Amino acid sequence: MILANSMELAPLDGQRFRFDAGTLCLELLVTGGEGELARWERLHTPGDLAAWIPYSRVGLGDLVQVSADELAATLRLRAALQRLAATAASGSRAFSGADLATMNEAAAAPPPVPVIGPALERSWVSPVTGTQFLSAVARDAVEVFGGPALDRIRTCEGERCPMLFLDTSRPGARRWCSMDRCGNRYKLRTRRDRHPSG
Ligand SMILES: [Zn+2]
Repeated sequence: MILANSMELAPLDGQRFRFDAGTLCLELLVTGGEGELARWERLHTPGDLAAWIPYSRVGLGDLVQVSADELAATLRLRAALQRLAATAASGSRAFSGADLATMNEAAAAPPPVPVIGPALERSWVSPVTGTQFLSAVARDAVEVFGGPALDRIRTCEGERCPMLFLDTSRPGARRWCSMDRCGNRYKLRTRRDRHPSG
């Protein structure tokens, strides 16, 4: 599921920017994480997750119902994906078997069911459950980690920027989470280094 799509983010430093994670399974990582990433946490309640899902590229609208167990499963899957993606981005292929098992377990559940209406409008059988959403995320991850896209998982080269994305550019030379953010900061820094007085 490699679609061109981006979402507006406002991290703790307050600068809003558009971010394209490149694929659904990495998009979930912008909602927070463990350790250092806990300060970005956006998913505190099942309602937080239900409210976030419509912003993701899976396109479920506001049809989603999330339980407390499903929120816990989401945080588990997200932590596993975070570790797997960081490993991939570092060039290593020493993936944790437990994390791959977490991915497989989520992928085993049935995904959202697509429907088409009388005016050929495409939608989903409603309500979509949190488990179905996680299945869509995990199936996307199986596709990415099990194919050539694995070599395109990158960490932003910005200073202390933890953002992970799938580089879907044709030349495969994407370096930044966003040109407006880390790309621009890098440009300003190199310009300053070249003209230290100005
Ligand atoms: Zn960045």
